[in-house]
Amino acid sequence: TNDSIKEVKNYDDKFMDGLLASGFDESTCLSRYQSHLYRKVSPYKPSPYLISKLRNYEQIHKKCGPNTIAYNTTMAKIIIPSSSETDDHHHYNDNVSDATLCKYVVWSPANGLGNRMISIAATFLYAVLTERVLLVRFEPDMHGLFCEPFQDSTWILPMDSPFWNNENIETYQSVLGKEDNARNLTLDQLSLPSVLFIDLQFRPEDPERFFHCDHNQEALNKVDVLIIQSDQYFVPSLFMIPSFSVDLNKMFPEKDAVFHHVGRYLFHPSNDAWGQITRFYDAYLAKADERIGLQVRVFNPASIPQQAVVNLLLSCAIENKILPGIDTQNPASNAKNTNHTLKAVLVASLYPEYAENLRTMYLKGPTVTGEVIGIYQPSHEEEQKFNDNVHNIKALVDMYLLSLCDVLVTTSVSTFGYVAHGFGGLKPWLLYRLTSDETHSPACVRDYSPEPCYHFGPQHQCNGKPEQHFGTSFPHIFECKDFDRGVKLV
Ligand code: GDP
Repeated sequence: TNDSIKEVKNYDDKFMDGLLASGFDESTCLSRYQSHLYRKVSPYKPSPYLISKLRNYEQIHKKCGPNTIAYNTTMAKIIIPSSSETDDHHHYNDNVSDATLCKYVVWSPANGLGNRMISIAATFLYAVLTERVLLVRFEPDMHGLFCEPFQDSTWILPMDSPFWNNENIETYQSVLGKEDNARNLTLDQLSLPSVLFIDLQFRPEDPERFFHCDHNQEALNKVDVLIIQSDQYFVPSLFMIPSFSVDLNKMFPEKDAVFHHVGRYLFHPSNDAWGQITRFYDAYLAKADERIGLQVRVFNPASIPQQAVVNLLLSCAIENKILPGIDTQNPASNAKNTNHTLKAVLVASLYPEYAENLRTMYLKGPTVTGEVIGIYQPSHEEEQKFNDNVHNIKALVDMYLLSLCDVLVTTSVSTFGYVAHGFGGLKPWLLYRLTSDETHSPACVRDYSPEPCYHFGPQHQCNGKPEQHFGTSFPHIFECKDFDRGVKLV
């Protein structure tokens, strides 16, 4: 019957086609099972294999997460050298890689919330592939943003863990450096410590990490605790690793929806954030015929006049028929307007001026199409703030609301924008990134995938040979449209 078809559909929507496990207490995290009421039906479906990998991961997390016997036993066996003995290896406990014990990957933050979310997603995928348990170093600035993603457990690194800092923990780079050619960690020659710190953040000198190489992954597999610090979406490099790619290809038959699924699986806004999202949506976006998201990230506002940004934004929106222009010939033409299409424009920006500018413009005269335009902005924080969870919640609210739009214009190279289009499964229009008082044509280009760009991918093959660019060396990996040094999944 129609009713039972409807029920099945509601069930599918609520659990995102099986991506989400059932059985969570709904009241502690309303967004988890309510988000489908606000989102369009996703064009992407999670594969049965991805779902089974997630269910399997949840079992591991439940068994090995904080406060379990397995966690306590594993941690008790791990020895962290004291500062006087960091250079020898005699303290490493060779027996810890016992099959009955657990292995962990600890995510460590760097940069803004967009950077953090894309790197958490990458680290989680790495955890799933390597059967490690993901734990996150969430300092107070990350408190109150997200619900716990794993049932009957926590993903927050326990307060009493020695892994809140990297003191006395050997680095991956230094272990790599000990090898003659600094490429391969070799299993037998090297006694790896039981805890290793891996810095995957971009550095100007950009040492090659060879993290995308099978050899090194095989060796890292022996390390009990990996601490990964990254602000990057390093997922494309995981697709380059032969021992992972078979699994990854089965998990993600649609390569451009990796963040879409992983992000929706992991990041559920807290009740506080969800309240802000839904109240804003219900008040300003719900009744619109079309929702347009504009993300205006100005990286160096001092050197770029506001008008240059507004001009760029408008030429992108009008040339691509995302927004209509103003009818200056017939200022009274709206009197008997028959087209009452309402377009709600959500502006996300640190600054209020861009939205104000657009609002003023659309009040000046009727639009050429007769469409009615409303301009709304949830917050304007003026500057990026650090160590401030209330500020970070506003950032999450903005990213989430953008992801609920039908059409997105985002700023090139901004990871804040990446989260929005990845979540939404939308191919955004990428605004050219201005650096001075200039114009640029075209003002924006359409992206070919909702995936985030991996800005600083590897630059060497696993044999040490320099590689100009990995875009097109692997199926489904292409050069990013907004950052030519970067690669992304398509
Ligand atoms: P990226 O620097 O654009 O790659 O994005 P990140 O999210 O990593 O860092 C930018 C940070 O600045 C955000 O996390 C916010 O703290 C703040 N920010 C930038 N743009 C906005 C915005 O449009 N809205 C809000 N609420 N915060 C923003």
